[in-house]
Amino acid sequence: MTDTTRDNVPLETITIVGGGTAGWMTAALLSHVFRGYRIRLVESDEIGIIGVGEATIPAIRDYMAMAGIDQVEMIRASQATFKLGIDFVNWRDGNDRYFHGFGRIGQDFMWLHPHQLWLRLKRLGVPIRHLDDYALNCRAGMANKFCFPDPRNPGSPISGIDYAYHFDASLLARYLRVRAEAKGVERIEGRIVDTKLDGESGHVAHVVLADGRTVDGDLFVDCSGMRGLLIGQALGVGYEDWNQWLLNDRALAVPCESVSPLTPYTRVTARDHGWQWRIPLQHRIGNGHVFASAQISDDAAAATLLANLDGKPLADPRAVAFRPGKRHKAWEKNVVAIGLSSGFLEPLESTSIHLIQTGITKLIGLFPHRGFAAPDIAEYNRQHDFEFTDVRDFIVAHYKVTEREDTEYWRYLKHMPIPDSLAERLDLFASSGRFFRRAAAELFREESWVQVLMGQGLPVAYDPMVEMIPDETVAAFLHDTEEVIADVARAMPDHADFIARYCKAPLSPN
Ligand code: FAD
Repeated sequence: MTDTTRDNVPLETITIVGGGTAGWMTAALLSHVFRGYRIRLVESDEIGIIGVGEATIPAIRDYMAMAGIDQVEMIRASQATFKLGIDFVNWRDGNDRYFHGFGRIGQDFMWLHPHQLWLRLKRLGVPIRHLDDYALNCRAGMANKFCFPDPRNPGSPISGIDYAYHFDASLLARYLRVRAEAKGVERIEGRIVDTKLDGESGHVAHVVLADGRTVDGDLFVDCSGMRGLLIGQALGVGYEDWNQWLLNDRALAVPCESVSPLTPYTRVTARDHGWQWRIPLQHRIGNGHVFASAQISDDAAAATLLANLDGKPLADPRAVAFRPGKRHKAWEKNVVAIGLSSGFLEPLESTSIHLIQTGITKLIGLFPHRGFAAPDIAEYNRQHDFEFTDVRDFIVAHYKVTEREDTEYWRYLKHMPIPDSLAERLDLFASSGRFFRRAAAELFREESWVQVLMGQGLPVAYDPMVEMIPDETVAAFLHDTEEVIADVARAMPDHADFIARYCKAPLSPN
């Protein structure tokens, strides 16, 4: 039963365990929005951080606004570049390319989404450009152009640009740490060797460091990475495995020298047993090969990775193992797990940092008193489940709709049974090109699903309502859309020039 005498007594101390992207994002935001709490962060230099996780989605800008972060300052501090979307190579049949751009695809025609008009012309055999050419983010991205949307001119095509960042994860953590410490967060360096629970409540009472010091707290935020030091090891909350839909469980990461042009997008290239990322930063390119360890050895995966770099490698490939899935509960007793400790899917759509962000904002929205009200905790966990399941379905869709069957890996993915929630959506889209968001909390909008599913060959038919519009009108509308987008993209500055002019990082990141 809830202890009502404690229900409305505010917490005093928040202890964050872990100083990776999750730990310092949490510390930087909480210290910016809260007054009167003692916030501490424990991290171990000896253990370090995972050091991957460098591509984001546009919602990261909401985090920055909430945390009072100036984007130009952050870009300079973390050697960041802009990201307009993701260039998918060889995902459909092994010899193809499409772009998942943030932002709109052209303009709707009455209530019809432009991809429906495009499908109609395609069916009629009218010569038509790739769907990517009707979306400014895709067109500008592939031409290596970038500029900010113009808020003073909401009707202009350029207002439809949407963007995120690529950044150096270690430099970002360092930048966030400086901000958090300036706002009073106490950093405690040391390796946690034990966690003590309160005998009565079962709450975490304190953690014990290797040198014998103890660190207590009213609320603990577990940002200890995949170890899940508090949520898993101390409180015993289990992990739901999603390996039957997400085969990849290992990655090799290696930085290489920069090359020109400086591309404003992440590239993900499908390989025989996984895929390879390419993330351009100002001072280097981050690369990695994500793969199913049951199907390919580290040596073979490294050989593929190293054979497909644009510049000279700057280090040896580093292996990272992961387990696709999520914690049964992200909040248990007085511990909230944020970051890898709460779950990890895989890096294909750069959603993990976003899930850190929503973990922190959910915590702020449901911030507890000492009573730790059960309905608040239950609501947090419901939202956590929804967010992970929603992102999982979008990622699984990329694999399920492939036409590739050239290796055991791709054959399995193409034919695997998928969750019902996803199967219904794919059936609907395949039959009519229609897609509906079922809840406002869904992360990816119709544009994202349309670009990915059409990029990989769906749908087979279109919305019959398109036939209400004369074919000449459809053709003229798409023709005009394409021309306007081409003109705007042409007029935009080069990505590298834009950075050099507005947000160039100092020469040495150190
Ligand atoms: P970590 O970085 O592992 O931090 C854990 C912290 O806990 C460290 O400070 C460590 O020192 C501390 N710690 C652990 N044990 C102890 C102990 N005993 N005592 C004291 N301290 C301890 N996300 C994206 O959004 N975009 C991407 O492009 C992307 N790419 C990825 C690629 C791969 C291959 C992987 C595996 C992940 C990727 N991610 C990506 C996810 C992203 O890396 C993580 O979400 C992010 O780095 C957050 O990690 P973290 O802070 O939870 O954990």
